Amino acid sequence: MIVGVLVEITAKSVDKVFDYHVSGELESDIKIGIRVEVPFGRMKLEGFVVEIKENSAVENLRDIIRIIDKDIILNSELLEIGKIMHKKTLASLISCYQVMLPKALKAKKNVNINKRYDVYYKLGNISDYKFNIKQQEIVSLFEHNKLVSRKKLLEISSSSLKTLLNKGVLIEVLREHYRLHYDNVDGNFKVLTEDQERVVNSIDLNSSDTYLLHGVTGSGKTEVYISLIDKVIKKGQNAIMLVPEIALTPQMISRFSSVFGNSIATLHSALSEGEKYDEYRRISRGEARIVIGARSAVFAPLDNIGIIIIDEEHSDSYKQDNNPRYNAKDIAIIRSKRGAFPLVMGSATPSLDSYARAQKGVFKLLELKKRVNNQKLPKVMVVDMNSEVKKGNHYFSTLLEESIKERLKKEEQVILLLNRRGYSPYITCVNCGHVVKCPNCDITLTYHKSSNTLRCHYCGYGDKIKDICPSCGSKSFRNLGLGVEKVEELLNEKFSARVLRMDIDTTTKKGSHKKMIEAFKNHEYDILLGTQIVAKGLDFPNVTLVGVINADTSLNIPDFRSSENTFSLLSQVAGRSGRSNKIGEVIIQTYNKDHYAINYAKSHDYVGFYNTEMNIRRNLKYPPYFYLCYIRISGTNYDYLSIEANKIKKSLDKYLQNNIILGPSPATIFKVNKVYRYGIIIKYKTDNNLYKVLNILVDHYKNNNKINIDIDFNPNHF
Ligand code: ADP
Ligand code: ZN
Ligand code: ZN
Repeated sequence: MIVGVLVEITAKSVDKVFDYHVSGELESDIKIGIRVEVPFGRMKLEGFVVEIKENSAVENLRDIIRIIDKDIILNSELLEIGKIMHKKTLASLISCYQVMLPKALKAKKNVNINKRYDVYYKLGNISDYKFNIKQQEIVSLFEHNKLVSRKKLLEISSSSLKTLLNKGVLIEVLREHYRLHYDNVDGNFKVLTEDQERVVNSIDLNSSDTYLLHGVTGSGKTEVYISLIDKVIKKGQNAIMLVPEIALTPQMISRFSSVFGNSIATLHSALSEGEKYDEYRRISRGEARIVIGARSAVFAPLDNIGIIIIDEEHSDSYKQDNNPRYNAKDIAIIRSKRGAFPLVMGSATPSLDSYARAQKGVFKLLELKKRVNNQKLPKVMVVDMNSEVKKGNHYFSTLLEESIKERLKKEEQVILLLNRRGYSPYITCVNCGHVVKCPNCDITLTYHKSSNTLRCHYCGYGDKIKDICPSCGSKSFRNLGLGVEKVEELLNEKFSARVLRMDIDTTTKKGSHKKMIEAFKNHEYDILLGTQIVAKGLDFPNVTLVGVINADTSLNIPDFRSSENTFSLLSQVAGRSGRSNKIGEVIIQTYNKDHYAINYAKSHDYVGFYNTEMNIRRNLKYPPYFYLCYIRISGTNYDYLSIEANKIKKSLDKYLQNNIILGPSPATIFKVNKVYRYGIIIKYKTDNNLYKVLNILVDHYKNNNKINIDIDFNPNHF
């Protein structure tokens, strides 16, 4: 027997299937989609069996070394999806398969992630053995139970247990034990409102349509998802539900487990590798029927899917930022069409791309225009910081300060957003303006107060804070940035309030996020201060004021989506206010009070924003009017790199005459870890010749180790 094996190796020139011979005794265990170990040159590698055949064009085939899996890891659907991804993203085929799997199941050497077992005992041979009292007590437990747990027997006597084991009276039995479990079901369904009912009923569960659910914040989208999934389960089918980040998951998971109990499985980055492995096995064994997870959960090996739901579909976390650069939304559409079931994507602020498709009828638009129980959307006030600064208010306007005080008096809660996208506190010399940058990457080092260090957020380089400016020798280094820690300090000075800070630094510890959310919900804190993380999906009934300290930072990023991202962020965070019976308020502090993104967020006018932004996109030839493809060209030799980048641009001009080609220009972060980066942007309407040309380009450089070419379709960052 001969098998085609796709091996795990990073060399970009080796991404192809190699044939191996399988000897007699192993033949019966070979299946497509399992992992095997094979010799490769002088190495031993792991790989996936992707074909089985009788003949090979190659002579003198080597034998596989061993079979790793009993059960199939990549089923036929995943094998097929991998091929499509490979074709559409130009990433290596092996990387497309690896990204689908938890670490424990990737083709990778030296991964040590084990199954866990509980130890039980069964009765062995008891015929000619005399028991003492304790031993008799142990044996009698087996009269009514075939298996008894180790824990129970240890409570009686550990020495007797040992003796009985040695004599073969008891025999050990191992039972697999999953690391996670979910609360029990209380079948806690809410009665849907008329609006929710209408949306649920307009989704045809027998179609393979894509629906875009545009529902304002607090309109009860989660209950719509729950009701849809319940219908699918009752039809005997299964469901996948994607959420953007762990930030959303604790509340979402507890809501789902209170309805569906142990039928759910979760997959997201906050789980340990062991937990992921267990969840993954529960899914592929059909023990879990509803998968809730982040981006990669779109590859869950679930059979008989009846619906995929994508919550907060505008979130950029659905796109992977390294190879393979896939978007979970595209994969969901592929699965939905192949499996003939619907895809539902929901958001209060749909991405322009999706809303435009809904306008064209490619997606079906569903709307929830009102909050549950007709609760009003919060009142939004915009504060002009230009005039506040003249009064000496750099961080808190008079209005925000007064409003916080008022809430504290009424024992209501406050959420404060520090908009920090692409922004962080840094150190600069007041004398000469010198900014401390990373020696490896062309970016400003971020100041961390708690450890008094400067850190690079790209390569991890760290340095003690310097007293003297390396450029001019003066001693006037100062922290100019507005960090979360700084604002926390100011809050503590100004108010006597219990402040909870939530950002990447305080939520890295496992489970800490969930605990924080619960503590805030229980009103153990008055003010929740955080970065983007506090804007998303959280539901706290006692929050009646949301303050945005600096609305502008995300507007100032050199990215054509900066208005869209700002509008969406402001609308989302505003949506955290006044969600129960108390009226909510939102205060937005900005230096750009006339910016349309801020004005439309103020009036909760998504469609107004959409129309204005679409005009701009049309004029500037940006998505959704044009597709974008970004070619990253990187290398350590600067001169060679710029010569090659210009060569590439020239040939693209020649072969892609119907497209707009921009560049080469330095990437936003020009140097990372001593590697220089250029980019070329291609704007196109149809991809006629594009894939052919890009494949030739990638092929041309695949044996060149001085230059790396990386293709990114529909990029999030440049
Ligand atoms: P969204 O995700 O659209 O912002 P949520 O799904 O978080 O909104 O719902 C907002 C609030 O309304 C939640 O507290 C939820 O429990 C409540 N809710 C939703 N639907 C109903 C309903 N049919 N009956 C009662 N309360 C509901
Ligand atoms: Zn660095
Ligand atoms: Zn200086």
